[in-house]
Parts: sequence; structure tokens; C-alpha cells
Amino acid sequence: MNNCLFCKIIKKQIPSEIVYEDEFVIAFKDINPQAKVHILIVPKKHIETVDHLEEKDDKLVGALIYTAQKIARKLGIAENGYRLVFNVKSHGGQIIDHIHLHLIGGEKLGKMCL
Ligand code: 5GP
Ligand code: ZN
Repeated sequence: MNNCLFCKIIKKQIPSEIVYEDEFVIAFKDINPQAKVHILIVPKKHIETVDHLEEKDDKLVGALIYTAQKIARKLGIAENGYRLVFNVKSHGGQIIDHIHLHLIGGEKLGKMCL
């Protein structure tokens, strides 16, 4: 957990382009964007994967999705739509073991992009 890249970004030990932050959630630009808009929405609580979520985390999961909705509207991509993705563990393509919701859009996406 101490060695977690996203925990370091949350603590501002590693710089990132933050687009939104509140008590529970932070959102920043993906360093290797897969589309014109590619934002990562991350809970400040270190939870490894979606598979590690517990029922008591339900508000936090809701906050991730509502944060994505808010950012998409702010960036003007909501009307045309966007994609939200959770990669889960190795077969799901998850590289960083701290839950993050990908918000991808700003252009017409192919059927799969991650
Ligand atoms: P995953 O494959 O785990 O779902 O996604 C991890 C994402 O984190 C990737 O899209 C990758 O480009 C992004 N990423 C990796 N390292 C950094 C970093 O240091 N800063 C930022 N902003 N994004 C990163
Ligand atoms: Zn972490």
C-alpha cells in the first residue's frame, strides 16, 4: 500500500494533472491517454480492485460514477457520450492495484479501446 503509485498521487508526492478533488475522490489525466479525453477517477481510500469492494463501500462506488458524470459534463463530452471502464485484476488488464474508473471520450470510440 505504501508503494502504491495512486496513493502517492493522492498525497501529491507524485505530480499529476488533477481535474477534480474532494474529500473522498480525486480525478486526474491519464499519463498515456487512449482518446482525446482520458481521466482516471480514484477513491482516496486504498482498495486494490473491484473484487476487493465490500458492501460498506457502496457510497464510494456511487461517488466514482457521479464524479465521472460531473467531469464529463464539465468537459462538454456528456451530450455525445463517453465510456467508463474498470479493469479488474490481471485478466482484466489492471496494472495499478488501486481501484480507478477510466473516463474515456471526446471522440467516437471503437468497440473496445483498453
Ligand atoms: P489500468 O491498466 O490499471 O486499468 O490503468 C492504469 C492507468 O494508469 C493506465 O491507463 C496508465 O496510463 C495510467 N498511469 C500509469 N502511471 C501513471 C502515472 O504516473 N500518472 C498518471 N496520470 N497515469 C498513470
Ligand atoms: Zn493506493
